[in-house]
Amino acid sequence: MNKSKDNLFMNSFSHIYIEKSIATHPITKKVLHRFPHATRIEVNHYKDVFCRTRQNFFLQKNSRKLILAVKKDRFIYPGTKVCQNFGNEHFYYTSSVLNCIYECDYCYLQGMYPSANIVVFVNIEDFFSELESLLQKHPVYLSISYDTDLLAFENVVPFASMWIQYARRHPDLQIELRTKSVNYSAIRHLPPSENIVLAWTLSPQEAINEFEQKTPSLNARLKCIKQSINDGWKVRLCFDPILYIEKWQEHYKQCIQETFSILPAEKIKDISIGVFRMPRDYLKNIRKNKIDSPLLHYPFECKNGIYSYPEQITRQLIDFVYQMIHSYVPSEKIYL
Ligand code: SF4
Repeated sequence: MNKSKDNLFMNSFSHIYIEKSIATHPITKKVLHRFPHATRIEVNHYKDVFCRTRQNFFLQKNSRKLILAVKKDRFIYPGTKVCQNFGNEHFYYTSSVLNCIYECDYCYLQGMYPSANIVVFVNIEDFFSELESLLQKHPVYLSISYDTDLLAFENVVPFASMWIQYARRHPDLQIELRTKSVNYSAIRHLPPSENIVLAWTLSPQEAINEFEQKTPSLNARLKCIKQSINDGWKVRLCFDPILYIEKWQEHYKQCIQETFSILPAEKIKDISIGVFRMPRDYLKNIRKNKIDSPLLHYPFECKNGIYSYPEQITRQLIDFVYQMIHSYVPSEKIYL
């Protein structure tokens, strides 16, 4: 298992910014304990650091800092139209961590945030209590690893475990923990539960090499998924974003064949397929900094403020990947 990649960041975070009001919060203490040599800097508000003007996201990626903060309001958001709701009526997402330790070239976070530093909202109990009120009204489907990769970050802050434990006590809540990480060992001690889905994003190895810097290999992800299936977890596979790259048919064919040569297709809960898409303004911001990326400078078409491949290419990509997957799993398990 490719554990070293998931621990790369443990040498980062030379500096940790801490909002004064949460200096003694138990999560703050836990994180600081993990980085005893980091320089600690107290700040009044995380935005004083995170939203400073004239920052360069792409330079900051080389030396990320950690920011421990408190979130004051709006803990749970209604799901966005660019995300799959898997047939759930009450679809929400939450972001207890902003930014990600991985560096995917196609990631919208690069165009959304002014900084590459990572913010952890330590007051996870307030996320839980807002959700508690929502659950009084109706069941909730919640994507918890949004705007980050929570499992990859579990060795810094154990939010994935905390969400899983919370979900186990709330049967009306369904959570999805989406990841590219192979850090399954960090949650393996927890018993699986019907209302928790572990979702892995899969890409052809060529795309991982080229566009998913610092993420584990396809093979390592598959071995990790297999272990979680054997342990009884519900697993979702996400072939998303599908990229229109050279020899894409060959690469996606190999990727899907490798996937089902390692994973038992009948044990997969469901599969999502989606092509690259990104809100217009985020792509505009990223393009200004990544002037030499053919992937991002492709002549996308804009529909309702979202850039994606032209209809005909989208169709080709989706049809091909769908047909490949459909030879292993029934159509009712495939979400587009
Ligand atoms: S793993 Fe997801 S959140 Fe992290 S950089 Fe890649 S696309 Fe962005």
